Amino acid sequence: MGSAPPHDTLLPLDPETFAAESRSVIDFLGGYYRDVESYPVRPPDAEPGRLRTLLPDAPPEHGDPVDVILEDVRRHIVPGLTHWQSPNFFAYYPMNASTAGFAGEMLSTGLNVVPFVWAASPAATELEGVVVDWMCKLVGLPDRFLFSGGGGGVLHGSTCEAVVCTLAAARDRALSRLGHDAILRMVVYASDQSHSTFQKGARIIGIPPSNFRVIPTSAASGYGLAVDSLCSVVDADVASGLVPLYLCGTVGTTGLGAVDPVRQLGEVARRYGMWLHVDAAYAGSSLICPEFRDCIDGAELADSVSMNPHKWFLTNMDCCCLWVASPAMLTSALSSNPEYLNGVSQEGAEVVDYKDWQIALSRPFRAMKLWVVLRRYGAAGMRAYIRRHVEMAEWFERTVRADRRFEVVVPRRFSLVTFRLRPRYEGDQEVDALNRKLLVAVNASGRAFMTHFVVDSKFVIRMAVGGAMTQMRHVRDAWELVKEKAKEVGALPSDFMDMQ
Ligand SMILES: *Cc1c(COP(=O)(O)O)cnc(C)c1O
Repeated sequence: MGSAPPHDTLLPLDPETFAAESRSVIDFLGGYYRDVESYPVRPPDAEPGRLRTLLPDAPPEHGDPVDVILEDVRRHIVPGLTHWQSPNFFAYYPMNASTAGFAGEMLSTGLNVVPFVWAASPAATELEGVVVDWMCKLVGLPDRFLFSGGGGGVLHGSTCEAVVCTLAAARDRALSRLGHDAILRMVVYASDQSHSTFQKGARIIGIPPSNFRVIPTSAASGYGLAVDSLCSVVDADVASGLVPLYLCGTVGTTGLGAVDPVRQLGEVARRYGMWLHVDAAYAGSSLICPEFRDCIDGAELADSVSMNPHKWFLTNMDCCCLWVASPAMLTSALSSNPEYLNGVSQEGAEVVDYKDWQIALSRPFRAMKLWVVLRRYGAAGMRAYIRRHVEMAEWFERTVRADRRFEVVVPRRFSLVTFRLRPRYEGDQEVDALNRKLLVAVNASGRAFMTHFVVDSKFVIRMAVGGAMTQMRHVRDAWELVKEKAKEVGALPSDFMDMQ
Protein backbone atom coordinates (compact mmCIF):
# COMPACT_ATOMS: atom_id res chain seq x y z
CA MET A 1 0.00 0.00 0.00
CA GLY A 2 2.58 2.50 1.24
CA SER A 3 4.73 2.17 -1.87
CA ALA A 4 1.86 2.56 -4.34
CA PRO A 5 2.39 5.53 -6.62
CA PRO A 6 0.24 8.59 -5.94
CA HIS A 7 -2.90 8.31 -8.02
CA ASP A 8 -2.10 11.44 -9.99
CA THR A 9 1.00 9.91 -11.51
CA LEU A 10 -0.46 6.51 -12.37
CA LEU A 11 -0.70 5.74 -16.07
CA PRO A 12 -4.32 6.30 -17.10
CA LEU A 13 -4.43 2.85 -18.66
CA ASP A 14 -2.48 0.99 -15.99
CA PRO A 15 -3.75 -2.57 -16.60
CA GLU A 16 -4.29 -3.53 -12.96
CA THR A 17 -6.11 -0.34 -12.07
CA PHE A 18 -8.10 -0.70 -15.27
CA ALA A 19 -9.35 -4.16 -14.32
CA ALA A 20 -10.11 -3.25 -10.70
CA GLU A 21 -11.92 0.01 -11.36
CA SER A 22 -13.85 -1.35 -14.32
CA ARG A 23 -14.99 -4.20 -12.11
CA SER A 24 -16.32 -1.68 -9.59
CA VAL A 25 -18.34 -0.04 -12.33
CA ILE A 26 -19.68 -3.36 -13.55
CA ASP A 27 -20.68 -4.32 -10.00
CA PHE A 28 -22.41 -0.98 -9.68
CA LEU A 29 -24.32 -1.51 -12.93
CA GLY A 30 -25.22 -5.09 -11.98
CA GLY A 31 -26.80 -3.72 -8.83
CA TYR A 32 -28.54 -1.01 -10.82
CA TYR A 33 -30.12 -3.53 -13.20
CA ARG A 34 -31.14 -5.69 -10.23
CA ASP A 35 -32.90 -2.77 -8.52
CA VAL A 36 -34.06 -0.60 -11.40
CA GLU A 37 -37.54 -2.10 -11.39
CA SER A 38 -38.14 -0.74 -7.89
CA TYR A 39 -37.25 2.86 -8.81
CA PRO A 40 -39.87 5.41 -9.86
CA VAL A 41 -39.47 5.39 -13.63
CA ARG A 42 -39.21 9.19 -13.62
CA PRO A 43 -37.66 11.17 -10.75
CA PRO A 44 -40.67 12.06 -8.58
CA ASP A 45 -39.44 15.42 -7.29
CA ALA A 46 -37.15 16.65 -10.06
CA GLU A 47 -36.62 20.41 -10.11
CA PRO A 48 -34.62 22.31 -12.72
CA GLY A 49 -31.19 23.20 -11.35
CA ARG A 50 -31.21 20.67 -8.49
CA LEU A 51 -28.02 18.87 -9.45
CA ARG A 52 -26.01 22.10 -9.65
CA THR A 53 -26.77 22.74 -5.98
CA LEU A 54 -25.47 19.27 -5.07
CA LEU A 55 -22.13 19.45 -6.88
CA PRO A 56 -19.09 21.70 -6.36
CA ASP A 57 -18.53 24.70 -8.63
CA ALA A 58 -15.21 23.44 -9.92
CA PRO A 59 -13.51 20.08 -10.59
CA PRO A 60 -11.34 18.62 -7.80
CA GLU A 61 -7.67 19.57 -7.77
CA HIS A 62 -6.76 15.95 -7.01
CA GLY A 63 -8.61 12.96 -8.38
CA ASP A 64 -11.00 10.86 -6.30
CA PRO A 65 -11.02 7.06 -6.07
CA VAL A 66 -13.61 5.45 -8.32
CA ASP A 67 -15.65 4.18 -5.35
CA VAL A 68 -16.09 7.72 -4.06
CA ILE A 69 -17.23 8.83 -7.50
CA LEU A 70 -19.66 5.91 -7.73
CA GLU A 71 -21.08 6.85 -4.35
CA ASP A 72 -21.89 10.31 -5.74
CA VAL A 73 -23.47 8.70 -8.78
CA ARG A 74 -25.65 6.64 -6.43
CA ARG A 75 -26.58 9.58 -4.20
CA HIS A 76 -26.89 12.50 -6.60
CA ILE A 77 -27.25 11.29 -10.16
CA VAL A 78 -29.33 8.11 -10.09
CA PRO A 79 -32.20 9.68 -8.10
CA GLY A 80 -32.50 12.39 -10.76
CA LEU A 81 -32.62 10.03 -13.73
CA THR A 82 -35.47 8.79 -15.83
CA HIS A 83 -34.82 5.06 -15.94
CA TRP A 84 -34.91 4.23 -19.62
CA GLN A 85 -33.90 0.63 -18.85
CA SER A 86 -36.70 0.13 -16.34
CA PRO A 87 -39.06 -2.67 -17.41
CA ASN A 88 -41.86 -0.17 -16.70
CA PHE A 89 -40.60 2.33 -19.27
CA PHE A 90 -43.16 2.51 -22.09
CA ALA A 91 -42.49 6.08 -23.25
CA TYR A 92 -41.22 7.39 -26.62
CA TYR A 93 -39.63 4.35 -28.23
CA PRO A 94 -37.35 1.98 -26.33
CA MET A 95 -33.61 2.59 -26.21
CA ASN A 96 -32.35 -0.90 -25.61
CA ALA A 97 -29.32 -1.85 -23.59
CA SER A 98 -28.21 -5.45 -23.19
CA THR A 99 -25.36 -7.48 -21.81
CA ALA A 100 -24.03 -8.14 -25.30
CA GLY A 101 -24.53 -4.52 -26.32
CA PHE A 102 -22.59 -3.47 -23.25
CA ALA A 103 -19.86 -6.03 -23.89
CA GLY A 104 -19.55 -4.79 -27.45
CA GLU A 105 -19.48 -1.19 -26.28
CA MET A 106 -16.78 -2.08 -23.75
CA LEU A 107 -14.67 -3.63 -26.48
CA SER A 108 -15.24 -0.70 -28.77
CA THR A 109 -14.52 1.95 -26.20
CA GLY A 110 -11.67 -0.04 -24.69
CA LEU A 111 -9.90 -0.52 -28.00
CA ASN A 112 -10.86 3.04 -28.92
CA VAL A 113 -9.73 2.84 -32.52
CA VAL A 114 -10.92 5.34 -35.11
CA PRO A 115 -11.91 3.90 -38.51
CA PHE A 116 -12.27 7.16 -40.45
CA VAL A 117 -10.25 5.81 -43.34
CA TRP A 118 -9.63 2.14 -44.03
CA ALA A 119 -5.91 2.45 -43.35
CA ALA A 120 -6.54 4.07 -39.95
CA SER A 121 -7.93 0.75 -38.68
CA PRO A 122 -8.48 -1.82 -41.41
CA ALA A 123 -10.35 -4.51 -39.47
CA ALA A 124 -12.67 -1.95 -37.87
CA THR A 125 -13.72 -0.63 -41.28
CA GLU A 126 -14.08 -4.14 -42.62
CA LEU A 127 -16.14 -5.34 -39.64
CA GLU A 128 -18.50 -2.43 -40.28
CA GLY A 129 -18.91 -3.55 -43.88
CA VAL A 130 -19.61 -7.12 -42.76
CA VAL A 131 -22.09 -6.15 -40.08
CA VAL A 132 -24.14 -3.72 -42.23
CA ASP A 133 -24.34 -6.45 -44.89
CA TRP A 134 -25.53 -8.94 -42.24
CA MET A 135 -28.18 -6.48 -41.06
CA CYS A 136 -29.23 -5.76 -44.64
CA LYS A 137 -29.92 -9.46 -45.19
CA LEU A 138 -31.58 -9.89 -41.80
CA VAL A 139 -34.12 -7.11 -42.35
CA GLY A 140 -34.81 -8.41 -45.85
CA LEU A 141 -33.58 -5.50 -47.91
CA PRO A 142 -32.84 -6.15 -51.59
CA ASP A 143 -29.31 -7.10 -52.67
CA ARG A 144 -28.72 -3.67 -54.21
CA PHE A 145 -28.04 -2.35 -50.69
CA LEU A 146 -25.26 -4.92 -50.13
CA PHE A 147 -21.66 -4.07 -50.95
CA SER A 148 -21.67 -7.07 -53.31
CA GLY A 149 -24.75 -5.62 -55.02
CA GLY A 150 -23.18 -2.23 -55.73
CA GLY A 151 -24.64 -0.52 -52.66
CA GLY A 152 -23.42 -0.46 -49.10
CA GLY A 153 -24.02 0.55 -45.54
CA VAL A 154 -22.53 2.61 -42.75
CA LEU A 155 -23.15 2.97 -39.02
CA HIS A 156 -24.11 6.45 -37.93
CA GLY A 157 -24.95 7.71 -34.46
CA SER A 158 -28.51 8.65 -35.29
CA THR A 159 -31.20 8.67 -37.91
CA CYS A 160 -31.04 12.46 -37.89
CA GLU A 161 -27.44 12.33 -39.07
CA ALA A 162 -28.23 9.66 -41.67
CA VAL A 163 -31.08 11.78 -43.04
CA VAL A 164 -28.93 14.90 -43.45
CA CYS A 165 -26.34 12.85 -45.35
CA THR A 166 -28.92 11.41 -47.75
CA LEU A 167 -30.47 14.85 -48.27
CA ALA A 168 -27.02 16.24 -49.13
CA ALA A 169 -26.45 13.38 -51.58
CA ALA A 170 -29.82 13.97 -53.24
CA ARG A 171 -29.17 17.71 -53.42
CA ASP A 172 -25.76 17.32 -55.03
CA ARG A 173 -27.09 14.78 -57.53
CA ALA A 174 -29.72 17.31 -58.59
CA LEU A 175 -27.36 20.29 -58.54
CA SER A 176 -24.91 18.55 -60.84
CA ARG A 177 -27.75 18.15 -63.33
CA LEU A 178 -29.47 21.54 -62.92
CA GLY A 179 -26.78 23.98 -61.82
CA HIS A 180 -26.25 25.74 -58.55
CA ASP A 181 -29.21 28.12 -58.64
CA ALA A 182 -31.59 25.16 -58.65
CA ILE A 183 -31.39 24.84 -54.85
CA LEU A 184 -34.09 27.49 -54.56
CA ARG A 185 -36.46 25.37 -56.65
CA MET A 186 -35.93 22.06 -54.89
CA VAL A 187 -38.76 20.56 -52.88
CA VAL A 188 -38.75 17.93 -50.13
CA TYR A 189 -41.90 15.89 -49.41
CA ALA A 190 -42.91 14.29 -46.14
CA SER A 191 -46.17 13.34 -44.46
CA ASP A 192 -47.58 15.00 -41.38
CA GLN A 193 -46.43 11.84 -39.54
CA SER A 194 -42.80 11.90 -40.77
CA HIS A 195 -40.13 12.57 -38.18
CA SER A 196 -39.27 16.24 -37.59
CA THR A 197 -35.69 15.48 -38.56
CA PHE A 198 -36.58 15.66 -42.27
CA GLN A 199 -37.67 19.28 -41.95
CA LYS A 200 -34.59 20.13 -39.92
CA GLY A 201 -32.35 18.26 -42.37
CA ALA A 202 -33.88 20.05 -45.35
CA ARG A 203 -33.18 23.36 -43.64
CA ILE A 204 -29.59 22.37 -42.89
CA ILE A 205 -28.84 21.48 -46.52
CA GLY A 206 -30.26 24.77 -47.75
CA ILE A 207 -33.74 23.92 -49.00
CA PRO A 208 -35.91 27.04 -48.64
CA PRO A 209 -38.29 26.37 -45.72
CA SER A 210 -41.24 27.21 -47.97
CA ASN A 211 -40.21 24.25 -50.16
CA PHE A 212 -40.80 21.64 -47.49
CA ARG A 213 -44.17 19.99 -48.15
CA VAL A 214 -46.13 18.27 -45.41
CA ILE A 215 -48.77 15.97 -46.90
CA PRO A 216 -51.71 15.42 -44.54
CA THR A 217 -52.59 11.82 -43.68
CA SER A 218 -55.83 10.46 -42.31
CA ALA A 219 -57.35 7.57 -40.43
CA ALA A 220 -58.55 6.17 -43.79
CA SER A 221 -54.96 5.22 -44.72
CA GLY A 222 -53.97 4.35 -41.16
CA TYR A 223 -51.99 7.63 -41.16
CA GLY A 224 -49.77 6.34 -43.95
CA LEU A 225 -48.89 8.66 -46.83
CA ALA A 226 -51.60 8.44 -49.53
CA VAL A 227 -50.00 8.58 -52.99
CA ASP A 228 -52.85 10.44 -54.68
CA SER A 229 -52.52 13.33 -52.18
CA LEU A 230 -48.76 13.22 -52.74
CA CYS A 231 -49.03 13.23 -56.53
CA SER A 232 -51.38 16.18 -56.68
CA VAL A 233 -48.96 18.26 -54.58
CA VAL A 234 -45.97 17.16 -56.66
CA ASP A 235 -47.78 17.87 -59.93
CA ALA A 236 -48.69 21.37 -58.78
CA ASP A 237 -45.05 22.02 -57.84
CA VAL A 238 -43.77 20.75 -61.19
CA ALA A 239 -46.34 22.91 -62.99
CA SER A 240 -45.00 25.96 -61.20
CA GLY A 241 -41.42 25.20 -62.15
CA LEU A 242 -40.21 23.58 -58.93
CA VAL A 243 -38.01 20.49 -58.77
CA PRO A 244 -39.13 17.48 -56.70
CA LEU A 245 -35.96 16.44 -54.85
CA TYR A 246 -36.55 14.06 -52.00
CA LEU A 247 -39.37 11.98 -50.60
CA CYS A 248 -39.48 10.63 -47.05
CA GLY A 249 -41.21 7.33 -46.45
CA THR A 250 -41.56 5.90 -42.96
CA VAL A 251 -42.05 2.34 -41.77
CA GLY A 252 -43.31 2.81 -38.21
CA THR A 253 -43.86 6.52 -37.59
CA THR A 254 -42.81 8.00 -34.29
CA GLY A 255 -46.20 9.10 -33.06
CA LEU A 256 -48.46 6.27 -34.15
CA GLY A 257 -46.36 3.52 -35.70
CA ALA A 258 -47.96 4.13 -39.11
CA VAL A 259 -46.52 2.63 -42.29
CA ASP A 260 -46.19 4.42 -45.63
CA PRO A 261 -46.70 2.35 -48.82
CA VAL A 262 -43.05 1.98 -49.82
CA ARG A 263 -43.63 0.49 -53.28
CA GLN A 264 -46.09 3.20 -54.28
CA LEU A 265 -43.81 5.92 -52.94
CA GLY A 266 -40.94 4.36 -54.86
CA GLU A 267 -42.93 4.45 -58.10
CA VAL A 268 -43.77 8.13 -57.57
CA ALA A 269 -40.16 8.93 -56.69
CA ARG A 270 -38.91 7.22 -59.86
CA ARG A 271 -41.46 9.00 -62.02
CA TYR A 272 -40.34 12.43 -60.82
CA GLY A 273 -36.65 11.68 -60.36
CA MET A 274 -36.81 12.10 -56.57
CA TRP A 275 -34.59 10.44 -54.00
CA LEU A 276 -36.63 8.10 -51.78
CA HIS A 277 -35.45 7.54 -48.22
CA VAL A 278 -37.16 4.93 -46.06
CA ASP A 279 -36.94 5.70 -42.35
CA ALA A 280 -37.51 2.56 -40.28
CA ALA A 281 -35.78 3.86 -37.14
CA TYR A 282 -37.95 1.92 -34.70
CA ALA A 283 -39.85 -0.68 -36.72
CA GLY A 284 -36.81 -1.69 -38.77
CA SER A 285 -35.93 -4.16 -36.02
CA SER A 286 -39.20 -6.04 -36.52
CA LEU A 287 -38.36 -6.59 -40.20
CA ILE A 288 -36.09 -9.46 -39.14
CA CYS A 289 -39.36 -11.40 -38.66
CA PRO A 290 -40.84 -12.50 -42.00
CA GLU A 291 -44.37 -11.63 -40.80
CA PHE A 292 -43.45 -7.92 -40.99
CA ARG A 293 -41.64 -8.03 -44.33
CA ASP A 294 -44.60 -6.75 -46.33
CA CYS A 295 -43.94 -3.33 -44.74
CA ILE A 296 -40.75 -2.98 -46.74
CA ASP A 297 -42.12 -4.34 -50.01
CA GLY A 298 -40.82 -2.10 -52.80
CA ALA A 299 -37.58 -1.21 -51.00
CA GLU A 300 -35.70 -1.93 -54.24
CA LEU A 301 -37.15 1.39 -55.46
CA ALA A 302 -35.60 3.34 -52.57
CA ASP A 303 -32.29 5.18 -52.75
CA SER A 304 -31.59 4.79 -49.05
CA VAL A 305 -32.97 3.04 -45.97
CA SER A 306 -32.15 3.50 -42.30
CA MET A 307 -32.99 1.85 -38.98
CA ASN A 308 -31.74 2.23 -35.40
CA PRO A 309 -30.40 -0.89 -33.65
CA HIS A 310 -30.14 1.39 -30.59
CA LYS A 311 -33.91 1.47 -30.29
CA TRP A 312 -35.33 -2.04 -30.34
CA PHE A 313 -32.36 -4.25 -31.25
CA LEU A 314 -30.49 -4.65 -27.96
CA THR A 315 -27.65 -2.38 -29.09
CA ASN A 316 -26.68 0.30 -26.58
CA MET A 317 -26.64 3.92 -27.76
CA ASP A 318 -25.70 4.91 -30.34
CA CYS A 319 -26.12 2.95 -33.55
CA CYS A 320 -28.02 3.68 -36.76
CA CYS A 321 -27.67 1.56 -39.92
CA LEU A 322 -27.86 3.53 -43.15
CA TRP A 323 -27.87 1.70 -46.47
CA VAL A 324 -27.56 3.40 -49.83
CA ALA A 325 -28.04 1.96 -53.31
CA SER A 326 -25.29 4.17 -54.68
CA PRO A 327 -22.42 4.90 -52.31
CA ALA A 328 -20.90 7.21 -54.93
CA MET A 329 -23.83 9.61 -54.46
CA LEU A 330 -23.14 9.77 -50.75
CA THR A 331 -19.38 10.07 -51.00
CA SER A 332 -19.45 12.72 -53.73
CA ALA A 333 -21.50 14.90 -51.36
CA LEU A 334 -19.48 14.13 -48.23
CA SER A 335 -15.89 13.34 -49.17
CA SER A 336 -12.94 15.36 -48.03
CA ASN A 337 -9.32 14.83 -48.90
CA PRO A 338 -6.82 16.36 -46.50
CA GLU A 339 -3.22 15.41 -47.22
CA TYR A 340 -2.60 14.08 -43.72
CA LEU A 341 -5.10 11.28 -44.36
CA ASN A 342 -3.69 10.22 -47.72
CA GLY A 343 -2.54 6.62 -47.62
CA VAL A 344 1.10 6.06 -48.46
CA SER A 345 0.97 2.28 -48.61
CA GLN A 346 -2.02 0.91 -50.56
CA GLU A 347 -2.45 3.25 -53.50
CA GLY A 348 -5.17 2.20 -55.88
CA ALA A 349 -6.70 -0.48 -53.66
CA GLU A 350 -10.52 -0.56 -53.43
CA VAL A 351 -11.29 0.34 -49.84
CA VAL A 352 -14.08 2.09 -47.98
CA ASP A 353 -13.16 5.31 -46.20
CA TYR A 354 -16.10 5.86 -43.89
CA LYS A 355 -15.26 9.52 -43.28
CA ASP A 356 -16.81 10.09 -46.72
CA TRP A 357 -20.11 8.46 -45.68
CA GLN A 358 -20.89 10.78 -42.76
CA ILE A 359 -20.60 14.33 -41.43
CA ALA A 360 -17.89 13.92 -38.79
CA LEU A 361 -14.35 12.78 -39.45
CA SER A 362 -13.52 10.86 -36.28
CA ARG A 363 -15.93 8.06 -35.47
CA PRO A 364 -16.26 5.27 -32.92
CA PHE A 365 -15.93 1.55 -33.64
CA ARG A 366 -19.71 0.99 -33.56
CA ALA A 367 -19.52 -2.15 -35.66
CA MET A 368 -18.01 -4.07 -32.75
CA LYS A 369 -21.11 -3.42 -30.66
CA LEU A 370 -23.64 -4.53 -33.24
CA TRP A 371 -21.48 -7.50 -34.21
CA VAL A 372 -21.30 -8.74 -30.61
CA VAL A 373 -25.09 -8.38 -30.29
CA LEU A 374 -25.65 -10.42 -33.45
CA ARG A 375 -23.07 -13.04 -32.47
CA ARG A 376 -24.35 -13.39 -28.91
CA TYR A 377 -28.12 -13.56 -29.54
CA GLY A 378 -28.20 -14.83 -33.14
CA ALA A 379 -30.94 -14.17 -35.67
CA ALA A 380 -33.32 -16.62 -33.98
CA GLY A 381 -32.73 -15.07 -30.58
CA MET A 382 -33.44 -11.60 -31.96
CA ARG A 383 -36.61 -12.75 -33.70
CA ALA A 384 -37.85 -14.33 -30.48
CA TYR A 385 -37.05 -11.10 -28.62
CA ILE A 386 -39.05 -8.95 -31.06
CA ARG A 387 -41.96 -11.41 -31.08
CA ARG A 388 -42.20 -11.43 -27.29
CA HIS A 389 -42.71 -7.68 -27.32
CA VAL A 390 -45.22 -7.83 -30.14
CA GLU A 391 -47.21 -10.47 -28.23
CA MET A 392 -47.21 -8.33 -25.08
CA ALA A 393 -48.41 -5.32 -27.09
CA GLU A 394 -51.07 -7.52 -28.70
CA TRP A 395 -52.32 -8.49 -25.26
CA PHE A 396 -52.42 -4.86 -24.14
CA GLU A 397 -54.32 -3.81 -27.26
CA ARG A 398 -56.84 -6.63 -26.88
CA THR A 399 -57.35 -5.78 -23.21
CA VAL A 400 -57.87 -2.08 -23.93
CA ARG A 401 -60.46 -2.95 -26.56
CA ALA A 402 -62.33 -5.17 -24.13
CA ASP A 403 -62.87 -2.32 -21.64
CA ARG A 404 -65.83 -0.19 -22.68
CA ARG A 405 -64.27 2.99 -21.30
CA PHE A 406 -61.28 2.82 -23.66
CA GLU A 407 -60.58 2.76 -27.36
CA VAL A 408 -57.57 1.90 -29.48
CA VAL A 409 -56.91 4.96 -31.64
CA VAL A 410 -54.87 3.43 -34.47
CA PRO A 411 -54.70 -0.35 -34.97
CA ARG A 412 -51.34 -1.65 -33.74
CA ARG A 413 -48.74 -2.67 -36.33
CA PHE A 414 -45.69 -3.42 -34.16
CA SER A 415 -45.28 -3.06 -30.40
CA LEU A 416 -46.84 0.39 -29.97
CA VAL A 417 -50.41 0.64 -28.67
CA THR A 418 -52.17 4.01 -29.05
CA PHE A 419 -55.23 4.29 -26.85
CA ARG A 420 -57.40 6.68 -24.86
CA LEU A 421 -60.53 6.96 -22.80
CA ARG A 422 -63.25 7.32 -25.40
CA PRO A 423 -65.82 10.12 -25.31
CA ARG A 424 -68.40 9.36 -22.64
CA TYR A 425 -71.25 10.65 -24.75
CA GLU A 426 -71.82 12.20 -28.16
CA GLY A 427 -69.90 15.50 -28.30
CA ASP A 428 -67.98 15.01 -25.01
CA GLN A 429 -65.83 18.18 -24.83
CA GLU A 430 -63.86 17.01 -21.80
CA VAL A 431 -62.44 13.84 -23.26
CA ASP A 432 -58.99 15.28 -24.05
CA ALA A 433 -58.66 16.91 -20.63
CA LEU A 434 -59.62 13.62 -19.01
CA ASN A 435 -56.99 11.71 -20.99
CA ARG A 436 -54.34 14.29 -20.12
CA LYS A 437 -55.23 13.90 -16.45
CA LEU A 438 -55.07 10.14 -16.82
CA LEU A 439 -51.57 10.24 -18.35
CA VAL A 440 -50.32 12.67 -15.70
CA ALA A 441 -51.67 10.39 -12.96
CA VAL A 442 -50.15 7.26 -14.50
CA ASN A 443 -46.71 8.90 -14.78
CA ALA A 444 -46.85 10.60 -11.39
CA SER A 445 -47.26 7.16 -9.79
CA GLY A 446 -43.71 6.31 -10.87
CA ARG A 447 -44.95 2.79 -11.61
CA ALA A 448 -44.86 3.30 -15.39
CA PHE A 449 -43.95 5.97 -17.89
CA MET A 450 -45.95 6.53 -21.07
CA THR A 451 -46.03 9.48 -23.47
CA HIS A 452 -48.69 11.10 -25.62
CA PHE A 453 -49.41 12.14 -29.17
CA VAL A 454 -52.08 14.25 -30.80
CA VAL A 455 -53.80 13.08 -33.97
CA ASP A 456 -56.88 14.60 -35.60
CA SER A 457 -57.01 16.87 -32.53
CA LYS A 458 -57.33 13.82 -30.26
CA PHE A 459 -55.03 13.43 -27.25
CA VAL A 460 -53.67 9.89 -27.47
CA ILE A 461 -51.69 7.86 -24.93
CA ARG A 462 -48.80 5.84 -26.34
CA MET A 463 -47.77 2.54 -24.76
CA ALA A 464 -44.53 1.48 -26.46
CA VAL A 465 -43.52 -2.04 -25.42
CA GLY A 466 -39.88 -2.91 -26.13
CA GLY A 467 -37.73 -2.54 -23.03
CA ALA A 468 -35.00 -5.14 -22.73
CA MET A 469 -36.27 -6.15 -19.26
CA THR A 470 -40.01 -5.81 -19.89
CA GLN A 471 -41.97 -8.98 -19.22
CA MET A 472 -45.65 -9.81 -19.36
CA ARG A 473 -46.14 -9.00 -15.69
CA HIS A 474 -44.97 -5.43 -16.25
CA VAL A 475 -47.42 -4.95 -19.09
CA ARG A 476 -50.23 -6.40 -16.92
CA ASP A 477 -49.25 -4.06 -14.08
CA ALA A 478 -49.27 -1.11 -16.47
CA TRP A 479 -52.83 -1.97 -17.47
CA GLU A 480 -53.91 -2.31 -13.82
CA LEU A 481 -52.34 1.09 -13.19
CA VAL A 482 -54.18 2.67 -16.13
CA LYS A 483 -57.50 1.29 -14.83
CA GLU A 484 -56.80 2.42 -11.28
CA LYS A 485 -55.89 5.96 -12.40
CA ALA A 486 -58.86 6.10 -14.79
CA LYS A 487 -61.10 5.54 -11.79
CA GLU A 488 -59.20 8.16 -9.76
CA VAL A 489 -59.57 10.85 -12.43
CA GLY A 490 -63.28 10.10 -12.53
CA ALA A 491 -63.70 7.90 -15.59
CA LEU A 492 -66.33 5.55 -14.18
CA PRO A 493 -67.83 2.79 -16.35
CA SER A 494 -71.32 4.08 -15.60
CA ASP A 495 -70.49 7.42 -17.27
CA PHE A 496 -69.85 5.78 -20.61
CA MET A 497 -72.71 5.69 -23.01
CA ASP A 498 -72.99 2.39 -24.88
CA MET A 499 -71.78 2.94 -28.38
CA GLN A 500 -71.79 -0.59 -29.75
C1 LIG B 1 -36.59 7.79 -33.23
C2 LIG B 1 -36.91 8.13 -34.64
C3 LIG B 1 -36.10 8.97 -35.39
C4 LIG B 1 -34.92 9.70 -34.77
O1 LIG B 1 -33.90 8.85 -34.53
P1 LIG B 1 -32.50 9.39 -33.92
O2 LIG B 1 -31.61 8.23 -34.03
O3 LIG B 1 -32.80 9.83 -32.54
O4 LIG B 1 -32.07 10.53 -34.78
C5 LIG B 1 -36.40 9.17 -36.72
N1 LIG B 1 -37.47 8.58 -37.28
C6 LIG B 1 -38.29 7.77 -36.60
C7 LIG B 1 -39.44 7.13 -37.28
C8 LIG B 1 -38.05 7.53 -35.25
O5 LIG B 1 -38.88 6.75 -34.55
